[in-house]
Amino acid sequence: AIDVKHIRQNPGLYSQNCIDRNYAAHKDTPWKIIDLHEQWLALQVGARTLRERSNQFRRELANPASFVGEEDEPQDRDRGTIMKEAKQLKRELSAIEERETALQDEIENLAQDLPNLSSTHTPVGTEPEIIGYINDHPEPDPSKSDRVWRSHIHIGSELGILDFTGAAQTSGWGWYYLVGQGAMMEQALVQYALNVARKRGWKAVSPPSLVYTHIAAACGFQPRDQNGEQQVYTIEQADKDKAKPSLALAGTAEIPLAGMKANQTLEDSELPLKTVGVSRCYRAEAGARGVDTKGLYRVHEFTKVEMFAWTLPDNISQDQFSVPADSTSEAIFDEMLSIQKEILDSLGLHCRILEMPTTDLGASASRKRDIEAFFPSRRERDDGWGEVTSTSICTDYQTRRLHTRVVLEKAGRKLDFPYTLNGTALAVPRVLAAILENHWDEREYSVRIPEVLRPFMGGLEKIHVT
Ligand code: AMP
Repeated sequence: AIDVKHIRQNPGLYSQNCIDRNYAAHKDTPWKIIDLHEQWLALQVGARTLRERSNQFRRELANPASFVGEEDEPQDRDRGTIMKEAKQLKRELSAIEERETALQDEIENLAQDLPNLSSTHTPVGTEPEIIGYINDHPEPDPSKSDRVWRSHIHIGSELGILDFTGAAQTSGWGWYYLVGQGAMMEQALVQYALNVARKRGWKAVSPPSLVYTHIAAACGFQPRDQNGEQQVYTIEQADKDKAKPSLALAGTAEIPLAGMKANQTLEDSELPLKTVGVSRCYRAEAGARGVDTKGLYRVHEFTKVEMFAWTLPDNISQDQFSVPADSTSEAIFDEMLSIQKEILDSLGLHCRILEMPTTDLGASASRKRDIEAFFPSRRERDDGWGEVTSTSICTDYQTRRLHTRVVLEKAGRKLDFPYTLNGTALAVPRVLAAILENHWDEREYSVRIPEVLRPFMGGLEKIHVT
């Protein structure tokens, strides 16, 4: 279902796209595809000749008088000779057909591994573009600030709401317990984010945590990243299940949500289809953990509220019909940003919004916006900025690989591939850490609970040492 023709017609575009996105190992793939396609075409010519000859034999066997043969062939061959030649022909033909299928598979596999084309909005290179802020920065000049900043690890331990020591015994480093009001704040954050999204028409979904690895791959998640680091936890199958497709723990609800419509055809009247999933996310983080070894910033398991949408493809030609302005993938992308802004603003966090560069897009996104929040404990690193949300338009990258289609009623029931988008509504651990660090009061030894969370925490205004 990959648009291999488009790749063959635009090899330079796809190759440059690989270079821009840090997929340099695939930069020659478009030309390999062209080469394999030419071999496939040559086989087609050979196969056509053989097929014509085979048809001729069939006619001849049915009616010996019709035999015309090649100029140098005897006109009086017996039935046995013809049968023998026909069999030989059949063998040659099936060998060619086998080679044709193998070439097609090879082309498809190479094409599958190419990253999506980047949007024209995406800055080329490694540097994001800052496109906005949420709330004023609390610390315009850190040297003049007399506020006492503490890390969430310190605050969480003092208040008795985070436990890393017990988790290290039970599961190792990178796991944690949320305790008492810590555990309650997780539930409050999930409820609050769900409510904000649901009020805007996003339908709640509880997805499975285990997914087939081929579904994850179709969404752009490989077991290992570009640097060969393990990204996902795979499940070892019991011996008797060896024949079943392999399973992995989902790193994000994006995968099971996208998979929910795999091999299905949607009606255009259903789109945009907006879902919001709550799930536990599992990440091996083999490469990255060395940098953020402590605390909640980078952990192996966490709860995330994730938005996932299917929209009509933007590339429907105008003479068929145009997608209403509030339903385009760009409009849904903006709607996701406005939900994220509402949530982070009301939690009193200071954030900046970034248009992410080509090297940060991964395999599936054509365009990506991240929001970073200010973490006092990270002031020595990245001036305190740390990513809290990420939103992507994946165009038809995922639906082509998952075989999700849409029937376009107004275009004579033509079939097309819908676009998909995913965006974080709220990932609990980093937001919880940012709340602890930004709302910590050293004099009172307490954390102020943002007003919007209070209804979900029994009206509690502050977390004190208990
Ligand atoms: P991603 O699905 O990788 O785009 O991440 C979405 C959001 O999940 C990020 O913006 C973070 O807030 C959060 N997140 C991702 N990885 C981790 C992790 N290992 N530990 C804690 N939070 C994470």
